[in-house]
Amino acid sequence: MPIDAERVRPAVLLNPLAGDPTDADSHIGGPMLWPIDDPWPHCDGSAHDPSSGGEPFVGAVQLYRRDFPELPFPDGTDVLQVFLCTLHHDLPNGYGPDVRLVWRDSTTVFELIEEEPEPSEQVEQYVPTVNVLEPIRFAEHGDKVSGGTKIGGWTAWSGPVEFPCVRCGAVQRQTLSLATHEPSGEDVEWEFGDAGNLNVLTCPEDVTHPVAVYVD
Ligand SMILES: [Zn+2]
Ligand SMILES: [Zn+2]
Repeated sequence: MPIDAERVRPAVLLNPLAGDPTDADSHIGGPMLWPIDDPWPHCDGSAHDPSSGGEPFVGAVQLYRRDFPELPFPDGTDVLQVFLCTLHHDLPNGYGPDVRLVWRDSTTVFELIEEEPEPSEQVEQYVPTVNVLEPIRFAEHGDKVSGGTKIGGWTAWSGPVEFPCVRCGAVQRQTLSLATHEPSGEDVEWEFGDAGNLNVLTCPEDVTHPVAVYVD
């Protein structure tokens, strides 16, 4: 693994707190800003363990650019929507939910979906409670990695790992980490791995390239 010269990276703890967000808010587990004429994301079921049918993804996290300008929003987008397929999927180092990112322009959404589709079955440990976010910005040192839900910063690797982008080969970068336990003690009540984190890495060249998902 090449030595990373920049040992300090900006990071934002999302700091979730139980609340009642709307689709116009940044949140975990709340309603998504989803247009009525856009097909809701579905999992094809091919990576399920054990294999079962395709299920709708579940809206897990929504982050507006006005609240989280640190995220690598592509031009013309202002909200990141994170979806989970809440069934066990085989991941590089174990299993966890599958992750889908949607980078959206909220100003083009006029008529919303009436009801978000619900999966016929879910693994309870991957289903979040409903939370608003009270972000805390900090500089994260590579040797002292926060275990909370955050954007940016470092991945709490149990060993040195790099994920090259399957599309272009660039080394992917830590973008979002969803945590079993929050520093505040106000957990979202989902659990990843052995009380660990679900880390989502994106391509630094193009965030619409396929993400890497790693449970630590
Ligand atoms: Zn799935
Ligand atoms: Zn790429």
